[in-house]
Amino acid sequence: MESSFSTIIEPFRIHSVEPLRMTTSDDRRRAIEDAGFNLFNLHATDVLIDFLTDSGTGAMSRDQWAAIQQGDESYAGSPSWFRFEAAVKDLFPFKHVIPTHQGRAAEKILFSVLGGDGRIVPNNTHFDTTRANVEASGARAVDLLIAEGREASTVHPFKGNMDVAELEKLLAAQRDDVPVVFLTITNNSGGGQPVSLANIRAVSETCHRYGVPLFLDSCRFAENAWFIHEREPGQGDREIADIVREIASLADGMTMSAKKDPFGNIGGWLALNDDDLAERCRTVLILTEGFPTYGGLAGRDLEAIAQGLREAVHPDYLRYRIRSTAYLGDALDAAGVPVVKPIGGHAVYIDARALLSHIPALQYPGQSLAVALYITGGIRSCEIGSVMFGRQPDGTEKPADMELVRLAIPRRTYTQSHIDYVIEVVKAVAQDASNLRGYRMVREPLALRHFTAEFEPLD
Ligand SMILES: *Cc1c(COP(=O)(O)O)cnc(C)c1O
Repeated sequence: MESSFSTIIEPFRIHSVEPLRMTTSDDRRRAIEDAGFNLFNLHATDVLIDFLTDSGTGAMSRDQWAAIQQGDESYAGSPSWFRFEAAVKDLFPFKHVIPTHQGRAAEKILFSVLGGDGRIVPNNTHFDTTRANVEASGARAVDLLIAEGREASTVHPFKGNMDVAELEKLLAAQRDDVPVVFLTITNNSGGGQPVSLANIRAVSETCHRYGVPLFLDSCRFAENAWFIHEREPGQGDREIADIVREIASLADGMTMSAKKDPFGNIGGWLALNDDDLAERCRTVLILTEGFPTYGGLAGRDLEAIAQGLREAVHPDYLRYRIRSTAYLGDALDAAGVPVVKPIGGHAVYIDARALLSHIPALQYPGQSLAVALYITGGIRSCEIGSVMFGRQPDGTEKPADMELVRLAIPRRTYTQSHIDYVIEVVKAVAQDASNLRGYRMVREPLALRHFTAEFEPLD
């Protein structure tokens, strides 16, 4: 029933709580120094509000915990597997479902089969692990995002859309080098921005005209479907699950992290229609993850995901989810903090290049802002800029397209007063932005450097 009141409330009440450990800014200054100024290296108990990621950090429901009790740990053919497979196929009716321990394992398996030297994989925007897995196979990862998607302050309802003309050009010239085209819904690295149904249809039509399969990196498919429901003409009366099924019908397969929209603490899958490709992927699965009816997962994980998938497409949840993210973003925007607009589904992205314009890209303005948010208010965020994407496959370093700091909001986890506190902290840091300094990277691993790099502040 439609309410006549405008406040969108959390469609749940709290059933079990976890304490937060209060810290002072002195405690936090010490902790971040010990962590080499990398927020990934902090002890989580030294963090007050953890917006590092929305991955695996959401609150499970009563019904998910109950489902966990149904977990059957049979090695092969567990009933938990069949419930998981049915829940996946209900939304994504691909012929083969291959369970993995998380999304990147699905990527690793797929690209170890389809990638390789000389191959090109287009995407609207590769997520960091996706790019790393494409490149680790020897292939080239190409981002074909529409121009609006690369401009932080340009408002467009579907900033995650792929540039179909660029895709057409690439396929016309080099179709034989492209084993698969990917669409990431929503576009995580580009601000959690959705892809329209019209764009998915156009990309699908283009791929299939050239005989190239289209795969979805579907981590936030439910949030993307909600944006389609809200913003795309003619979609407002459809069920979310129905929109999801149409999206799936336009693709030939998907990779998935169940740690995102399906409310899993762990899990993922690869799903596809092609029998021969599925056979080759399952062979790699058995070598690296496990038997095809559990992948890298326990039966209880499969149960939690199956139940989570049903909850993920509920309109009351999605209305609350998208509104609560916008609540944070709109407040920062109103306070003059530069944010990516419109506000995305799972996170608010602060434009560190605009806010810290005195810090050059290769002195990592995003890292500087993220460290300041932690010291000032105990908020852990994530740099998505030149620290994450600056190192090129040829070994050189170059500035990323955007210098963003992502405040990723775990699902069903924080209340509105937590968010009001975050708004206050971000405003205080923004007011002091001209005093923040850049950083120098003093230790760097070979791949995915943002996870383990260490930094020193510059004078
Ligand atoms: C999280 C994520 C992945 C990788 O999934 P993991 O479960 O973290 O391995 C891939 N693509 C996108 C868009 C993601 O957000």
